[in-house]
Amino acid sequence: MTTAPQLSAADALPLDLIERLLGLAVAGGAPSVEVFAPATGRKIADLPQSSVGDIETAFATARSAQQKWAGVPVGERAALLRRVHDMVLAEQDAILDIIQTETGKSRVHAFDEVSDVAVNARYYASEGKRLLAHRKPRGVMPVLTQVEVRNRPKGVVAVISPWNYPLALGASDALPALLAGNAVIGRPDNQTALTLLWAIDIAERAGLPKGLWQAVLGRGAVVGTEVIARADFVDYTGSSATGRTIAQQAGERLIGYSLELGGKNPLLVLADADVSAAAKIAVRACFASAGQLCESIERIYVHANVYDQFVADFVENTGKLTLGKDLDFSYEIGSLTFPRQIDTVSKHVDDAVAKGARVLAGGKARPDLGPYFYEPTILADVREGMTVFREETFGPVVSVYRVETDEDAVTQANDTAYGLNASVWGRDTNRAREIAARIDAGSVNVNEGFIAAWGSVAAPSGGLGISGTGRRHGPEGLLKYIDTQTIAVQRVLPIAPLPGMSEQLWAKTMTLYLGVMKTLRQK
Ligand code: NAD
Repeated sequence: MTTAPQLSAADALPLDLIERLLGLAVAGGAPSVEVFAPATGRKIADLPQSSVGDIETAFATARSAQQKWAGVPVGERAALLRRVHDMVLAEQDAILDIIQTETGKSRVHAFDEVSDVAVNARYYASEGKRLLAHRKPRGVMPVLTQVEVRNRPKGVVAVISPWNYPLALGASDALPALLAGNAVIGRPDNQTALTLLWAIDIAERAGLPKGLWQAVLGRGAVVGTEVIARADFVDYTGSSATGRTIAQQAGERLIGYSLELGGKNPLLVLADADVSAAAKIAVRACFASAGQLCESIERIYVHANVYDQFVADFVENTGKLTLGKDLDFSYEIGSLTFPRQIDTVSKHVDDAVAKGARVLAGGKARPDLGPYFYEPTILADVREGMTVFREETFGPVVSVYRVETDEDAVTQANDTAYGLNASVWGRDTNRAREIAARIDAGSVNVNEGFIAAWGSVAAPSGGLGISGTGRRHGPEGLLKYIDTQTIAVQRVLPIAPLPGMSEQLWAKTMTLYLGVMKTLRQK
């Protein structure tokens, strides 16, 4: 593994920018906390924290702003998203610096977040009007019963986002909520608060009225709980364990929620796969953002016929990855974000090795680069009983398994409680597609790792099993933020016996009517 030249990351963020962004947070009522750049260990800021009073204020402002916003035509709201699209792309240098500084990730993976926001803004701007239009379904008595289904915004949506993809997960979920006529209270992770504040700043400069998208700051268990206690809908991204807590809190209040949770995602190399292509793309699928990606591949099942070739290529490609921390595109892999991340990664690898696994690549922390750097790591001979076999590592660690048949690969891929993302490689794409349909995951990429499905934002994305419930992207990612209201107008005749008609004759008439409707195949 080669090493790119080292420079300090945190030095690059201008102080006046930090101060301006922090001024946008609804915070300051609780003691501030220090936040450090993971790649360099340097302090980024004293981050103000939100008190319960701050959260109350944010919600009161949001509710009043939302009432006006709900009356703004969808076309105007969509135009705002288009402006956000353009500004995020035009001002990307600033946000790439912020994301890199706050997360420690490489610039190329920070750029994935910029494109994610642009793609989502474009998709919802162009589809929003159609998706949010009122519908006129058939009434119980055609012509006599006129029905209209209206879409109403939920009100104030809480978007509680994690630190690993702070722009993509904080902003791309907020934009459709705003488009649907809601206000949004964002609760970013403290580590990545500046990123979300930058997105809010862009939206306001693009014309979003003040108060519609606000950030409150603080630890999840404290501030998150207070936010859920006041929100009308919760959009949460994070671990499955916390997802359960959020679901209980939302369930207590009978509000809706969408949970995007963890994964232990498999990649299958079938007997007829283009092994060289699979071994190339697998590198990105496993190690994007140093593996701190929910869609990241952590298990690879390879048909015995191609196992040796795949492993040789994959190990070689992984060994070529460069690590670094400059705020530029000169290397591929950055730092992990927290001490607990490197602890988990080290524990998973050490436990596996102690129980007989072999390290084919990496396997070491790199304190020479920074406190939380860890080499992209490939393990073989991983078995049940090793922690890494079932638990999500959420770091740069993948296990490679030899399987005798493609059928075995499917069975082992499905042997997990998670079901977020999967990848299937085969030259016969029809067969690969059939196999993909048998994998228990919310998205499966054929001859790609994760970006084909994730980047196709017209299609929903989300998890099965303990990977979550609810979807982002596609119509589902917008319609979760609305309630429907059915307005039915009955004209001329009532849906009841006519004057003088017995209840028995009414029942007979209705029986005849229902039979006729079925014959006419009326729904
Ligand atoms: P986590 O659940 O511990 O924390 C995620 C965020 O939730 C943090 O910002 C945290 O402060 C906050 N939080 C914690 N407890 C809370 C509570 N009671 N109420 C409200 N908020 C609370 O997860 P993590 O380990 O920090 O993040 C990584 C996890 O997120 C991984 O499991 C990863 O797979 C998952 N993830 C999933 C997706 C997805 O789209 N499915 C995307 C990114 C990350």
